[in-house]
Amino acid sequence: MPVYEFRCEACGPFEARHAMTDVPRSRECPACGTTARRVFSVAGLSRANSPRARAIDDAARSAEAPDVVRSVPRQTGGRGAPPAVSRDPRHLKLPRP
Ligand SMILES: [Zn+2]
Repeated sequence: MPVYEFRCEACGPFEARHAMTDVPRSRECPACGTTARRVFSVAGLSRANSPRARAIDDAARSAEAPDVVRSVPRQTGGRGAPPAVSRDPRHLKLPRP
């Protein structure tokens, strides 16, 4: 059975298999249960859940209301990060500046 692409207004695109003779125009979203419309795309080149499709959807979703950051991202080096301290005893023998 071929794969068809549907798009939920809230959750984004998803794929579903249907017989070619029995393809619905809309279908229940597997995530939230609301009605999702079928999206017409080139056969075999579905973009649902591709990194590019997710990036486009994320950009569109955050255009008016950016995602809220609830904590400071962990820093792994770079400016402002505490210097990494080696626990390797051989490093104690290295010359100091
Ligand atoms: Zn949904």
